[in-house]
Amino acid sequence: MSFPFHEERRLHAHCPKCGHEQVFVKVRMNHLLHLALIVITAGLWSVCWLALCIDKYLRPWCCHHCGCKSPEFGVAARLKITKRFRG
Ligand SMILES: [Zn+2]
Repeated sequence: MSFPFHEERRLHAHCPKCGHEQVFVKVRMNHLLHLALIVITAGLWSVCWLALCIDKYLRPWCCHHCGCKSPEFGVAARLKITKRFRG
């Protein structure tokens, strides 16, 4: 999703819903723009900013395919180690 107040980052991790490796997206907020919106709205935007910050802190990564918000980074790391020792 393209949202004018955000910047996206992507990585590959194991998705428990899809059952295999998927692209996960992390949204990075533009705090300067939010600060400008707080000034313009006389502080009203601070409620939205706080809600967005909490959501970003609690669920930073989202599966691009199914929307799952709990990537498993450890599974991918273990698979890489197993392949290294077997190879
Ligand atoms: Zn998924």
